[in-house]
Order: sequence, then structure tokens, then C-alpha cells
Amino acid sequence: MEITFLGTSSGVPTRTRNVSSVALRLPQRKEIWLFDCGEATQHQLLRSDLRTSQIRRIFISHMHGDHIFGLMGLLASCGLAGTVSQIDVYGPPTLDRYIASCLRWSVMRLPYKLQVHTVEPGEVFSDGEFTVTCRLLHHRVPAFGYRVSESDRPGRFHVEKAQALGIPFGPLYGQLKQGKTITLADGRTFDGRDFCDPPQRGRSMVYCTDTVFCESAVELAQQA
Ligand SMILES: [Zn+2]
Repeated sequence: MEITFLGTSSGVPTRTRNVSSVALRLPQRKEIWLFDCGEATQHQLLRSDLRTSQIRRIFISHMHGDHIFGLMGLLASCGLAGTVSQIDVYGPPTLDRYIASCLRWSVMRLPYKLQVHTVEPGEVFSDGEFTVTCRLLHHRVPAFGYRVSESDRPGRFHVEKAQALGIPFGPLYGQLKQGKTITLADGRTFDGRDFCDPPQRGRSMVYCTDTVFCESAVELAQQA
């Protein structure tokens, strides 16, 4: 998980800070997930070491212009990159109509699949490796905070320990890795948990913006 702050200014850009956008790079899958897309976010991407063509998911917190006025330009540029096959956009209930209107009235045709998801508090996305959830924040319009959580990873398996005990190499090692108990032909039993480090807790990042204090933001951000 690598986080790049593309814009942290509120309402209007300044000379040194653009309006809202945060990029989450997932190097293991060569993907970038974007959180909000204020005007000129694509210019900020050009100034970073991130590749626009790797943008795979875009999560929109709310419909205020300083969070979405860069979305259509970025989506258009992704089409010109030529290597994008699908982008999923997540956001509040009117986001799909906003995007549909912009596409229609600017006669824009995207050469890739654009999937727009209307979010509700709860789970937004999950694929086994990552889960994205959202909660409603307190703002003048419906606004969502997002949390991306990695799944826990199994701890390191100490293969040398199993070898030293004369456990025959093969499928039994797989069972030990999963923390199962095995019984050998000679009657000895081994608990897989004795061969593995404790599981590594997955990391989480939370994106909350434009809210006054609210319990939902606190709950969303627990241990992030
Ligand atoms: Zn706002």
C-alpha cells in the first residue's frame, strides 16, 4: 500500500496544493485506486510517479465540485491511454446520472468498460485480498468515508523445523502451513501452529473528508 496525496486543498486550489484526491497504489497488482478526483487531478498525476493507465477503481466521497470536477477529464484521458480495459467508479446516488449526463452532452465515448456503483453504508467491494467499506459522514450533502483493508496474511512457515523432525516432504507440509494437525505413519502427531509465525495483520487505510466530528468516522478508522 503506497499513498500519494495528489490534492489536499479544500474548495479552491492554491499555488502549492490542488483540490481533493488521494491515490492508493497496490504494487502487487499494478493497480491504482483513487479517492476523489478534484479538478486537475490528472495534472497532479503527471507530476507524480503514478501511471494514469493503472487506475482501476475510483471512490468518490460526495458530489461537491472540488471532489469530482476532475473525474470526466481523467476518465477521457484513461481512454486515450489505450491500455485500460475497465474502470469501476463508486459513489453517492447521483454520481451515475452525473457521469451519464457528461458522457452524453460532451459526446464522449470511452473505449473501455466503465462501471458505476452506487454505494450504501457497508461493504462496497471485496475480492479476498482487499475489502472496501464505507460509512456516511456528516456534511451538507451525502458524503461517504472509505476504508480499504488488506486480509490478514499467514505467518512464515518454518520448513527447516519440519525437515529436522523428519516429516516427509509433500502435501503434509501444506497442511502444517494451514495450521492443521497431522499424524505420521509412525504415530507421531504435529500441530501446524507450532511451525508457523503468528498471522500478519493486514493493513488498512481510511479516507475521510469534509466532515465534522462523527462517530461513524471514528469507527471507520479503528486501527487503520
Ligand atoms: Zn464538500
